[in-house]
Amino acid sequence: MTEIPRTHPRYLSLTMRERLVEGVRLGVTAMQGLIAHGRGEAFDYILGEKTRDFALKAERAAVAMMLLAKHPVISVNGNAAVLVPADIARLSKVVGAKVEVNVFHYSPERVEKIKNYLEKFGMEVLTACDAVLEGLESARRIVDSRGIYVADVVLVPLEDGDRCEILKKHGKKVIAIDLNPLSRTSRMADITIVDNIVRALPNMVRMAEEMKEWDREGLEKIVERYDNSEVLAEAVREIKEHLEKVADEF
Ligand code: ATP
Ligand code: MG
Repeated sequence: MTEIPRTHPRYLSLTMRERLVEGVRLGVTAMQGLIAHGRGEAFDYILGEKTRDFALKAERAAVAMMLLAKHPVISVNGNAAVLVPADIARLSKVVGAKVEVNVFHYSPERVEKIKNYLEKFGMEVLTACDAVLEGLESARRIVDSRGIYVADVVLVPLEDGDRCEILKKHGKKVIAIDLNPLSRTSRMADITIVDNIVRALPNMVRMAEEMKEWDREGLEKIVERYDNSEVLAEAVREIKEHLEKVADEF
């Protein structure tokens, strides 16, 4: 890996790129994942690369929903695996969620590699691929009968819109992490976290550690009061305002 000097103004962003390139080298991340990351980066740039209030609100509601769930599952692809493996392990422990590998660019070898990679961070990983989500053409339809297939709440970082829609048709609540508030995924999900996964997951772990002590009523209130359309509108407005401010400064 290229050594990035800590003093570099874009240190974090460059480190993420290095991790993803390493992920491709290991056969964990798909080449297409690099392109998807680039789209995310662009949105992060215009959001000022920090967690905004609307994202915190969504992260809180997501944690509440996962704590309330009977069978919460964290769906992991090749990007999420290399960007936040330790946080996936932490979150799954605190909220009691299963971790399942689910990729768009499928091969049994790749799924196995992601599983092995994640297991080094101390978590159990589902990869049975023994059940099918009807109505979906892509490889993402193949799921684990103990995981996504029976889940009531699924956390899907960096998801594509189609599967999000199918998960919903199968009666599941979907929590998306997507820096693009305009994507189909963002509009489809029950809760959309418009934040970089590298900030969203640590935030969620922190919140979950506190909220796991709460009674169900408190958690239910947070979920009931949550309005995803409002959060997406806030995200778009925030981008607009941020850009206007930048324009004024030129
Ligand atoms: P849709 O079908 O939902 O309209 P898409 O298929 O074009 O979207 P994909 O390329 O499948 O989107 O998924 C990548 C999405 O993940 C992008 O919208 C991008 O903004 C987001 N993304 C990429 N990297 C990150 C990251 N590190 N954190 C959060 N979101 C990210
Ligand atoms: Mg898509």
